[in-house]
Amino acid sequence: MRFVLASHNKKKLDELSAILGGLGIEVVALPDDAPEPAEDGSTFEENARIKALAAHAHTGLPAIADDSGLEVDALGGAPGVYSARYCPGTDNDRNLFLLKNMEHIDECERQARFVCAICCVLPDGQEINVRGECEGEILTELHGTGGFGYDPLFYVREYDCTFGELSQQTKNQISHRGRALQKLANALSKRLK
Ligand code: IMP
Repeated sequence: MRFVLASHNKKKLDELSAILGGLGIEVVALPDDAPEPAEDGSTFEENARIKALAAHAHTGLPAIADDSGLEVDALGGAPGVYSARYCPGTDNDRNLFLLKNMEHIDECERQARFVCAICCVLPDGQEINVRGECEGEILTELHGTGGFGYDPLFYVREYDCTFGELSQQTKNQISHRGRALQKLANALSKRLK
């Protein structure tokens, strides 16, 4: 069965194909002419659903979409669904902005988590909605050059390093996205039996 991924991101397509390929699912990228819906939901789940329904409507294929971001407890869950547009500029600018906003926050109160919501619209219009989370802490300076986004600030106690210092393989195993994808694969394998 063929699914469309509501994203133009090649890395996401490869990661999803690797996980769902074993179930006999082929995942294709969103066509370039697909309209980009406004991601104006107030939760990761709402935004993932907006993107999956738009991709399904445009292509007629079953569709998968994800939406993710960083929640910092001491900032009331910010940047949350605004993670990609927390401030203008680059990933590094956003990391420095986050550090500035957390200047006054004690070491023991810097808990945060990455969250990923995935919505999958099946051929009959039914939906599978799953969420993956990864708990960590925001450091007071950047560590590591791997990954993207907030990775160099996101410390994972179990590995005693940041996401920016982990190999891609290890990050995929423990990340919010990896966990959500695994849940999706489990749910799909039950449905397609
Ligand atoms: P997206 O929904 O996957 O496009 O992610 C939205 C934003 O959340 C990204 O632009 C990053 O700022 C942040 N983000 C999501 N996942 C990660 C991650 O694994 N590492 C670092 N930042 C992430």
